Amino acid sequence: MRLANLDGRAVIVVDGHAVDVERASAGRLSSDPMVLSDLAHHDALRAVAAVADPSAWPALDESKLGAPVPRPPKGYGVGLNYKQHAIESGRELPTEPHLFAKTENCVCGPFDEIVIPQGLTEIDYETELVIVFGRTCKGATRENAWSFLAGVTCGQDISDRGEQFRPPLKQFTIAKSYDTFGPTGPYLVTADELADPDALSLTGVVSGEVMQEANTNDLIFDVPALVVWLSRYITFQPGDLVWTGTPGGVGEARGRFLRDGDVVETTIEGIGTMRNPVVER
Ligand code: ZN
Repeated sequence: MRLANLDGRAVIVVDGHAVDVERASAGRLSSDPMVLSDLAHHDALRAVAAVADPSAWPALDESKLGAPVPRPPKGYGVGLNYKQHAIESGRELPTEPHLFAKTENCVCGPFDEIVIPQGLTEIDYETELVIVFGRTCKGATRENAWSFLAGVTCGQDISDRGEQFRPPLKQFTIAKSYDTFGPTGPYLVTADELADPDALSLTGVVSGEVMQEANTNDLIFDVPALVVWLSRYITFQPGDLVWTGTPGGVGEARGRFLRDGDVVETTIEGIGTMRNPVVER
């Protein structure tokens, strides 16, 4: 299924048309997009999609899409999780994942503005696959890890490098959680829609220039490994998000930070493309 938040309402995308979940289910399912990331509702959503006549619903207007999971209970990001990115940042390959929080306020939609606070000059893009938990998860194994996920979506892990590496300590969480620093979307795509959910090509483009090009099969810790490691001591819930890390080619390595007027395009195979304009204010 391809699931989306259209103007604040949950929809299923069928043949390019937006089937409104609440109306098509005659009120049995809520219009709240948070129903989409709850696996408890996925059988009902599939039943709605199976009988929907797409031509009876409006053609999907992508410009009205919001974050597919607008209110994640928790969000984390993984640092240094592609071999290529670890090499460009001159660091040893990690032997265990490194995590930071991305807080709910930073989440925005696939076509929303990324806002640079006035005067900041080291704002960077990071193109990432985002996984979405769909049921209570603790103590997952590699074998059952994917079964806890509602699906995947595209993400940007926007970062203020000045704050992230400000001496004497580093602080990833706040530097990556400013308002609008977590674009996600355009769709929440269930794993069964993807030929191989562990091998997805991803591309990050800034104002027409390809900056990042990779495949999630280059992850140091793949999706099952992350779910296992994260759920050792923390219980995950439907709607929790994990930004799985970014490949090489970030602005910091190129000396090319985001500026007012840029457009950040994020594409992941089988999911879609986000287009986020950058504004400074
Ligand atoms: Zn990141």
